[in-house]
Amino acid sequence: MTRSNQDDKNVKMPSYFDLPPLDVSLAFPQATPASTFPPSVSDYFQFDDLLKPEEQAIRLKVRACMEKEIAPIMTKYWEKAEFPFHAIPKLAELGISGGTIKGYGCPGLSITGSAIATAEVARVDASCSTFILVHSSLAMLTIALCGSEAQKQKYLPSLAQLKTIACWALTEPDYGSDASSLKTIATKVEGGWILEGQKRWIGNSTFADLLVIFARNTSTNQINGYIVKKDAPGLTVTKIDNKIGLRIVQNGDIVMKKVFVPDEDRIEGVNSFQDTNKVLAVSRVMVAWQPIGISMGIYDMCHRYLKERKQFGAPLAAFQINQQKLVQMLSNVQAMILVGWRLCKLYESGKMTPGHASLGKSWITLRARETAALGRELLGGNGILSDFLVAKAFCDLEPIYTYEGTYEINTLVTGREVTGFASFKPATQRSRM
Ligand SMILES: Cc1cc2nc3c(=O)[nH]c(=O)nc-3n(C[C@H](O)[C@H](O)[C@H](O)COP(=O)(O)OP(=O)(O)OC[C@H]3O[C@@H](n4cnc5c(N)ncnc54)[C@H](O)[C@@H]3O)c2cc1C
Repeated sequence: MTRSNQDDKNVKMPSYFDLPPLDVSLAFPQATPASTFPPSVSDYFQFDDLLKPEEQAIRLKVRACMEKEIAPIMTKYWEKAEFPFHAIPKLAELGISGGTIKGYGCPGLSITGSAIATAEVARVDASCSTFILVHSSLAMLTIALCGSEAQKQKYLPSLAQLKTIACWALTEPDYGSDASSLKTIATKVEGGWILEGQKRWIGNSTFADLLVIFARNTSTNQINGYIVKKDAPGLTVTKIDNKIGLRIVQNGDIVMKKVFVPDEDRIEGVNSFQDTNKVLAVSRVMVAWQPIGISMGIYDMCHRYLKERKQFGAPLAAFQINQQKLVQMLSNVQAMILVGWRLCKLYESGKMTPGHASLGKSWITLRARETAALGRELLGGNGILSDFLVAKAFCDLEPIYTYEGTYEINTLVTGREVTGFASFKPATQRSRM
C-alpha cells in the first residue's frame, strides 16, 4: 500500500461520501435523459416518401425495438464497456442480420432497407449497429459472396438468427490503412492449412463463434480467406481495453500460432485482395449509414432537450444561436440522407464505383462529426454526459471516422478515381530541401 493510500484510510470521511451517484433524472429533473429515447423528428424533407412500404415497415420495427429494448440499458453497458448478451435475442427478432443476402434463412432486404435499418439501430446506439455490421455486412457477406455452397448452407442460417456470432479479421498491428500488405500467413498442409500471425481491432472477436480471417497464401503470395472456429487450438483472443468510442463493441487482438483450418473452411472465392473489396463495397454503404443514424439520434436528442431546458426564463430553443446550430444539424442530416440514399440507388443499378462508396462514407462521417460537435455544445454540461446520448455519440463517431478506410484513405480512393492518379504511396525520392 502506498503512503497516500494509507493516509486516505486514516482520514475520517462523512458517511455520504460512499453513496452512489444520484439518478440522473433526480439530479437533473429539467430534461429527459436518453434512456427514454426522444421522438424521431429529423425527417424534415420527408425522406420516408422515397422508401418502399416494406422499407418503411422495417424502419419502424427497428426503431421501436431499439427505443424500447436498447435505449434504457445502453449507457450502463457503454460505461462498463461490456456487451449486453441478453439483448441478442431481441436484435435477432428484428430479422436484419444477413441484410441483403437472399436465401439461407437471411432476410434478403433491399440495400436501402438494410441501410435504413442500420441507421435506425445507430440512431439509438452506434455500438449495436457496429456489432451487427461486422457480423452481417462483413463476415456473413464474405461467406455469401465468396463461400462454397456447403459453407453457405452450414453457416448462414444460424448466423442470420444470431445463434452464432461472427467477426471479420483483416487489420493487423503493422497493417491498418495498408491492409493489402498483411503478413499473416496460410501454409498448405495435408487436409488443410496452417495459419500463423496476428490481427488487431477485430470487432466481436472476443466472443465470436466464427472468425473470418484473411491470410497470405505462402504458395501464391495472394490473400485468401478462412473460417476459423473459436476453440481452434493455437488461437487466442484478448479484449482491447480503454476505448473512448463504441465501448460496447468488444474489439480484440487475435494471435494465431499454428492454427489448423480444414480444407472445407477455406473460403474458395477469396483469392486476392480484390475479392475482399467486393465485400467492402457493400459494407462501406452500410457504414456510411451509421453516421447518418447517429446524427439523426443526436438531432432528436437536442431537439427535445432545447425545448425542455430553460435558462434566462426561456427554453434554450428560443435563443437564436441555438436555433442556428439546430438548423445546421438538421440540414446536415437531410444532405447526409440524400447522399446515402443515392449511394444505395447507384449500388442497386450496378453503377456504384469504389470512389462513390468512399466519397459517401468519408463526406458523411465529416458532416456527422460536425453535427455531433454542435449537439455537444447545445447540451452544455450535459453534452459531456453519456446519459444524454450526444457525448456518447460524439465519441462513437471517432472510430467510425477511422474504420472501413479512414477519412483520408477514402478521400484518396475517390481522388484516384477522378484524377487517374493513385497517391497512397509517398514519392520515393527525398526532397532536396
Ligand atoms: C473500433 C474499431 C473497430 C475496428 N474493427 C475492425 C474489424 O472488425 N476488422 C478489421 O479488420 N479491422 C477493424 N478495425 C481497423 C480499422 O479498419 C483500422 O483502424 C483502419 O483501417 C486504420 O488503420 P490504423 O488504425 O492502423 O491507422 P493507420 O493506417 O496507422 O493511419 C494513421 C493515420 O495516417 C493516415 N494515413 C495512412 N496511410 C495514409 C496515406 N497513404 N495517405 C494519407 N494518409 C494516410 C490515416 O488516414 C490516419 O489518419 C477497427 C478499428 C477500430 C478503431
